[in-house]
Amino acid sequence: MMTKMQGIAVSPGVIIGKAFVLHVRGEMFSASERKIKDAEVPQEIARFEDALTRTRAEILGIRKKIFNQIGRESSDIFNAHLMILEDRTLIEDVIAVIKVKKVNCEFAFWTVLEKYFTAFMQINDEYLRERISDIKDIGRRVLGNLAGDKSDTVTLRENSIVIAHDLSPSDTAMLDKEKVLGFATEIGGPTSDGTSGILIIDPDTLTLEEYTQREIRFTEITRELDELRDLPALTSDKHSIVLAANIEFPDEITSVISHGAEGIGLYRTEYFYMNRTDLPGEEEQYKAYKQVAEKMTPHSVIIRTLDLGGDKFASSLDVPHEMNPFLGWRAIRFCLTRVDVFKTQMRAILRASAHGNLKVMYPMISNLTELQKANEILEECRNELKREGCAYDSRMEVGAMIEIPSAAIISHILAKEVDFFSIGTNDLIQYALAVDRVNEKIAYLYEPTHPAILDLIHRVVQSGHKAKKWVGSCGEMSGDPAIAVLLVGLDIDEISTSPIVLPKVKKAVRSVSYKDAKRIAKKALEFDTGKQVRSYINQELKIIARNLVSDE
Ligand code: PEP
Ligand code: MG
Repeated sequence: MMTKMQGIAVSPGVIIGKAFVLHVRGEMFSASERKIKDAEVPQEIARFEDALTRTRAEILGIRKKIFNQIGRESSDIFNAHLMILEDRTLIEDVIAVIKVKKVNCEFAFWTVLEKYFTAFMQINDEYLRERISDIKDIGRRVLGNLAGDKSDTVTLRENSIVIAHDLSPSDTAMLDKEKVLGFATEIGGPTSDGTSGILIIDPDTLTLEEYTQREIRFTEITRELDELRDLPALTSDKHSIVLAANIEFPDEITSVISHGAEGIGLYRTEYFYMNRTDLPGEEEQYKAYKQVAEKMTPHSVIIRTLDLGGDKFASSLDVPHEMNPFLGWRAIRFCLTRVDVFKTQMRAILRASAHGNLKVMYPMISNLTELQKANEILEECRNELKREGCAYDSRMEVGAMIEIPSAAIISHILAKEVDFFSIGTNDLIQYALAVDRVNEKIAYLYEPTHPAILDLIHRVVQSGHKAKKWVGSCGEMSGDPAIAVLLVGLDIDEISTSPIVLPKVKKAVRSVSYKDAKRIAKKALEFDTGKQVRSYINQELKIIARNLVSDE
């Protein structure tokens, strides 16, 4: 019987294919109990240690493969796996269970892991919670080795859609990518775009026919979008917009370039600080920023200074548990207290600015004082580098992210202290509408077209332009073509979003005239509800750019 499931769309596409179930919830941790005799204890311990050695060799192999294929940041994820495998307390706990309870090592290992999960789930530390999926991954591998499953690749006999509970880095590394048509997981992060997030099992003939047509259409659209890659982001009456991409790791530049971005509008730097126990030093950061700046030259790269807090934590930084982390000691608030951490990053950014077109921006600015203090620290770093004889770009542009309503409202005051604004709509919507951006229950309230949001964006662009400063938008909402048209009409100078949706945004920009976009935006500002705004834009686009609306 046909079953239709609604999930969260992660990346766009329509795929029809056979399902391959990699694993489902809990599957990897079932180990049955077998009582053993005293004499069997040494043999059971040896089996366990042998499985650990083999798992370690596998992980080292995968790490090397990922390092060669993708790069250092991705391969480093496996260091945490190795640390777990070498954790003496865990190993000794398992050996103790084998000896005391006289059970097989699979069951002993499983018992200990369960204890770890329960303990980790109760600790309010993002770093440790992230380790749960690493431990699960390791657990599955060790049990696999104990069961005699020595393979380190999953053989897909035909092109398949891979179904899994959660996809760990080593799961994806094990798969033969050539044969993977798509993924569907039980848990995992949402974010930006996607087609619709629908999974249909055993489709009936009619549904299959409908989705075959959709699949063909999607392939055509993708081909069409590919052709846009090297064309400029110009409206039909030649108004130009900068289309840039958001990244988190330097190795995403390949995707940035292949999707036709004209720069990086948001380089999130939190990931330097996460998944590690020490702080990243100046040299390490300098090398990464320099590499990105060089690869993107002559295009510009906007580095956002550390934005930890909210939903991103780093155990190397001693941030206490807070009742309201999204409203707490985060981002620029943290950096202005931990000036040492902030200066290390600033010095690295400034030094890298000598190697390309770098810009810097501060996240979560809520008032003028924060902005001025951040600029003073930047000036201090410039002076230090000058004294040390280190090269840097003395004209590097400095901007403020506008993602707190108070900053949007006083943007005319903030404009004097910056070279540009970048509107972070992901957070601006969250704070203006009081809607937690990661809470699915209230996701229906997270409305990019809410009149309050349009009003704030409009206000920021106007005050920026009045002070002769350019204004960009770097939230994910601009991946939606209707919103992209709205932003063009609101006079945004740069749109930055996930690389994967950029061709779609470019198509939207090229499908309308600036004159029409302005007319649409002007009218959109007059509605009472977000729904009215959306249906008005869609109705307009159906008339002036039909191809945009039918993509959805
Ligand atoms: C935003 O808030 O819109 C933004 C781009 O930053 P982040 O998603 O990293 O908070
Ligand atoms: Mg933000």
